[in-house]
Amino acid sequence: MSQAKLMDGTALARRIVEDTAKQAADLKERTGTAPCLATVLVGADPASVTYVRMKQSRCRKAGIESRHVELPATTTTAELVATLTALSADPSVHGILLQHPMGEHIDERAAFEAIAPEKDVDGVTFASFAAMSFGLPGFVSCTPGGIMRLLDEYDVDPSGKRAVVVGRSAILGKPAGMLLLARDATVTYCHSRTRDLSAAVREADIVVAAVGRPRLIRGEDIKPGAVVLDAGYNAGNVGDVDFESAAERASLITPVPGGVGPMTIATLLEQTVTAAARQLGM
Ligand code: NAP
Repeated sequence: MSQAKLMDGTALARRIVEDTAKQAADLKERTGTAPCLATVLVGADPASVTYVRMKQSRCRKAGIESRHVELPATTTTAELVATLTALSADPSVHGILLQHPMGEHIDERAAFEAIAPEKDVDGVTFASFAAMSFGLPGFVSCTPGGIMRLLDEYDVDPSGKRAVVVGRSAILGKPAGMLLLARDATVTYCHSRTRDLSAAVREADIVVAAVGRPRLIRGEDIKPGAVVLDAGYNAGNVGDVDFESAAERASLITPVPGGVGPMTIATLLEQTVTAAARQLGM
């Protein structure tokens, strides 16, 4: 019998997108310009193609224009940087999303840094990361941003709580921990070299799973009453947390799918409209 309450990311994301669509319509009425997100895809990796299409379709539904740039897999770092620099300078584009991974031959960091910070609605640049770290205005990486919204929606105040973030990638684990720290949680990062993951997770009032290993975190390691956010998405629609056993002990838990996942695109759309509003002087 599951005891934890579900954190419904699908419902929250729907509400955020509805509000975002209203803001996009209002912006268009007041300025004559619809917000526009440029998506850039290098190569034709099937998963990336699907993600980009999904993002474009969600943009359309929210009244956000999308401009898609498809580059061949042979594109060099210099060519990609030139494309992103041009989009950064184009006043009709308000947000830029560079789909990754992009292929081993591309210097990913150089590509990200070609995105103007004011258009970095996916929160991938150094400037965005630094602004987030210092609590200054800017755009956050979308999945960690979505995780924080879920916590707020379910009245979980991280202040003073022990948060354990499993995973330290630049787009997910690391920024999730920084955002929790900014909200006064005591944060521990775990990763592939962590000696005793179970012991660390057992201390956590808030667990963020961001690994990509199916059911790595088991219910027996969840502290009774903990809040569990599972960003993992593995084959077979399975998260990084063993949902059934974790739900026996957690107070709040995100399902997979339908928890953290939908929040990522909602945050992207919301940040795109915010970027457009700022650039249009609203
Ligand atoms: P990633 O770049 O591969 O990073 C994985 C992290 O997990 C690394 O920090 C790695 O440690 C750590 N790790 C690997 N094995 C571990 C283990 N046995 N114990 C503890 N830590 C371990 O992955 P990512 O891009 O952050 O994505 C993580 C998961 O989130 C994936 O399932 C991905 O599909 C999902 N995701 C979901 C969304 C969404 O919208 N919901 C968005 C992005 C990603 P090291 O640093 O030591 O290698």
